[in-house]
Amino acid sequence: MPTAHPHPKDLYGGRLTIDPDAIAANWAYLNGKLNGATECAAAIKADAYGTGQEAAGKALFKAGCKTFFVAVPTEALALRKTLPDAVIYALDGLFPGTVEHFIAHNIRPVLGSLPELEEWAAVCKAAGKSLDAALHVDTGIHRLGLSPDEFAVSMRNKGLLGPFTPSLIMSHLACGSTPAHAMNQRQLDQFRDITKPFAHIPKSLANSAGVLMGPNYHFDMVRPGIALYGGQAIETEPNTMKPVAKVEARIMIVRDVPEGDTIGYGARQTAQRPLKNAVVAAGYADGLLRRASSSDAGSGGFGMIGGYKAPILGRISMDMITLDVTDVPEHLLVRGAYVEMLGPNVAAADLAAYAETIDYEYLTSLGRRFERVYGPLT
Ligand SMILES: *Cc1c(COP(=O)(O)O)cnc(C)c1O
Repeated sequence: MPTAHPHPKDLYGGRLTIDPDAIAANWAYLNGKLNGATECAAAIKADAYGTGQEAAGKALFKAGCKTFFVAVPTEALALRKTLPDAVIYALDGLFPGTVEHFIAHNIRPVLGSLPELEEWAAVCKAAGKSLDAALHVDTGIHRLGLSPDEFAVSMRNKGLLGPFTPSLIMSHLACGSTPAHAMNQRQLDQFRDITKPFAHIPKSLANSAGVLMGPNYHFDMVRPGIALYGGQAIETEPNTMKPVAKVEARIMIVRDVPEGDTIGYGARQTAQRPLKNAVVAAGYADGLLRRASSSDAGSGGFGMIGGYKAPILGRISMDMITLDVTDVPEHLLVRGAYVEMLGPNVAAADLAAYAETIDYEYLTSLGRRFERVYGPLT
């Protein structure tokens, strides 16, 4: 597969490697947790969580995934070009005045409000065709979705729903990352109650966490996202997914810092002993979030070089990060060498803990300026 920015590789400050086979393997792993009646779809929004929609889409389709969820219509249209035969749902539903694009490209909207439902029904009526769409019912997250009352009324209203039958009824978990949260059971019970009268329509509740929470959450279709891309869906359990992305930044300079001197913007970190630091060519503009910076008040994230941990020193800048390599053998500290800043040895979820965020944000922020390579994370 060609790289997205085909300059000679030495011209880049760093490299982002994505392994589509690992995405496929993660899908197969999750699919293996389902009984045969449940379909494993894929959430592929936000450029496949930063990993590249085209490569991820192809790998997933080849692995056996047939149904894909994107967020906005532009993502749906791009994916349609890659996967002419897939079922594609747009989670954000119908934006006003866009219905013709959904029909022309065979995209199914996830309808989450009465005006959207009315618009879709009117189009079906005018076309004399029952066009597929999902109905989203809100079971407590209060973002998109019909309220349970609106859902019940809509399902009884022949004038509204008459022109088409929903191809899917779905809802979304608010607290899947913490399975012990009481909200999960409440949403499960409510989703079951609400959808019970509609045995003939497929149902879907689970994201990645829902898949891992077990069969009660699976229904007819599951919609994992983060786990496909190697992320940690459940905060309280070890991550069993294969890593999919690796970020490496190149060493520009290695220098000594005398004890008592400070490093980086704001002079926030003081050398407590004579240090050696390596400055690498990636920063928050590359998605290495500034919140993972280090200071005298608390340590930040880290990189890995040749099996050695290199803690971040001081603030993460836009284009560079300073790493403590005092204890790294000299022969590894070569100008131009690559330091792993995220990947198999630097879990996004671990970095996220330093940055007070989640690995979803790391992945979706990554690498517009890196050399992009598709292949194994060797
Ligand atoms: C993003 C999303 C998913 C996938 O969630 P993960 O936590 O990444 O598995 C599933 N369903 C909906 C409605 C979503 O917005």
